[in-house]
Amino acid sequence: MTYRPELIGGHLALDLVNTVAWRRDPTRTVDRFADLPNVERWLLAAGVSRDQAVVTRRLRDDLVAARDIAYDVLARLAVGDRPARATVDALHGLISGVVRSASVELSPFGWRADDPGDAVRLAVWRLFEDEDLGRLRQCGDDGCGWLFLDRSKNGSRRWCSSADCGNRARARRHYERARGTTA
Ligand SMILES: [Zn+2]
Repeated sequence: MTYRPELIGGHLALDLVNTVAWRRDPTRTVDRFADLPNVERWLLAAGVSRDQAVVTRRLRDDLVAARDIAYDVLARLAVGDRPARATVDALHGLISGVVRSASVELSPFGWRADDPGDAVRLAVWRLFEDEDLGRLRQCGDDGCGWLFLDRSKNGSRRWCSSADCGNRARARRHYERARGTTA
């Protein structure tokens, strides 16, 4: 089946992190970036590239490295834990690299990067700089592992997708209730 990127993170850097499915269930984990054409599909869907980008192994490896560094820090923050020192150092290295490779645009003023790898790393930096990480959540499903910014007014979003993980949880609760009444 053709990979269709699901952009549910509420931020490009989170949609990058979510290119690994079932991260918390090693028996089911799928890395969507294992296939180079999927990297291209993701870059187009996420609006990083406007035209068919030539995805080299090197670009893929750069994106995977940025993704996994970001995940290691974000997954801890999402559950209110302190990230490990080594992962924070890796993130620091990533962000200092972004500052060196991005250019400064004068009008409108701001940082920019044309290379897709740099553009995605820039998004990782922006996530940490611009967003309220108090709203960062990990999907309530035990195996899913997807991350998102909960932008709901009362901060009540639990699932990456209510149609997907949320629906499965509802079905499971229903099944358990039904079993409970017949037992
Ligand atoms: Zn989920």
